[in-house]
Amino acid sequence: MTILWQSPPVTSALMPTYNRLPVRLVRGSGCRVWDDQGREYLDFVAGIATCTLGHAHPRLVQAVSDQIQQLHHVSNLYQIPLQEELAAFLTGHSCADRVFFANSGAEGNEGAIKLARKYAHVVKGYDQPIIVTAQASFHGRTLATLTATGQPKYQKHFDPLVPGFVYVPYNDLAALTKVVLELEQVAAILLEPIQGEGGVRPGEWDYFQGVRRLCDEKGILLILDEVQSGMGRTGRWWGYECLGIEPDIFSAAKGLGGGIPIGAVLCKEQYSVFQPGDHASTYGGNPLACRAALTVGQAIEELGLLAQVQQRGEQLQRGLQTWVNTYPEWFEQVRGWGLLQGLVLRPEAPFQAAEIVQRALEKGLLLVPAGPQVIRWVPPLIVSETEVDLALERLGEALRG
Ligand SMILES: *Cc1c(COP(=O)(O)O)cnc(C)c1O
Repeated sequence: MTILWQSPPVTSALMPTYNRLPVRLVRGSGCRVWDDQGREYLDFVAGIATCTLGHAHPRLVQAVSDQIQQLHHVSNLYQIPLQEELAAFLTGHSCADRVFFANSGAEGNEGAIKLARKYAHVVKGYDQPIIVTAQASFHGRTLATLTATGQPKYQKHFDPLVPGFVYVPYNDLAALTKVVLELEQVAAILLEPIQGEGGVRPGEWDYFQGVRRLCDEKGILLILDEVQSGMGRTGRWWGYECLGIEPDIFSAAKGLGGGIPIGAVLCKEQYSVFQPGDHASTYGGNPLACRAALTVGQAIEELGLLAQVQQRGEQLQRGLQTWVNTYPEWFEQVRGWGLLQGLVLRPEAPFQAAEIVQRALEKGLLLVPAGPQVIRWVPPLIVSETEVDLALERLGEALRG
């Protein structure tokens, strides 16, 4: 079949950074979106795990409309009560005591990297602190987070990269221990609790228990990238709750604002070493973004979404498993937590994830690849039982061709 993913036509003024599907979405409601031809799609991408409450959720529409009429942006030159309120909400629903607000996942991770480096310099006396990250990880596209990302394909042609990063295989405690014992000045280990972009690969319980122990023994900071796994996506507030550990520092973004851009770095009190002037963001934590995130957080709580995510996640995983069983020559497995699921293709399957995604689109279902071999399922957290069934049915139609 012809692959329809296209870069923009030469007449476009956009830089051709994305291969895009030839669909123009113009309207959304709940878990559904419509294109400019009036075609309806079930949205199991949700802006890549960002539209926590789906599209045009009345609570979010109301809150954001109210806020933009009242005050949408000032500056961090002034006190921002909504920022205080959101920070209190997040620390009240996590192991963190302090929050810094940015605008994206990459910026949240940048903040985490800077915080860990400052801690290493001023508390540990390191002059060349090292941060260990995992192969196949994804931490963003700024230079430091691109360097942290253990995927050479994203780094090509952007060197010189940022010094001070070392990579190890994910879920491999022996490899990590070896690096930590060999290198001096390991300041932090930065990991995703479940690798998202790199193929929806869940962290293993024993591995993360071991990582936490190693960090405690060696005085190394454990930073978790919760950009994709945080804010209820896994059926818990944070991915680390699925692993029985607590990080020292973690980042959040994607689902945090329900589609309104906001990112954050959070930490425990003893690692909160930023002083006035150390770090800043013009937009970070403005009243509009904070109101959105606060609304999302309160909705997760008041609508009981965590329990729903667990149920819908099990339903989705069970349903995908039946497709794995039906087409064992194509699919290897389904893996994931809550509403972050990956349908994994066999290396010898006659097509790649992008092709299934395109076929699903033609059947009215939006999906997104996570690497060449994995089809990612990240619907809004409000997705209903009927919608999950319908999505599974549309996948079946797509597979039948
Ligand atoms: C998406 C993602 C990022 C980058 O977030 P941006 O908002 O695109 O900068 C970082 N880490 C993880 C785990 C992500 O999934």
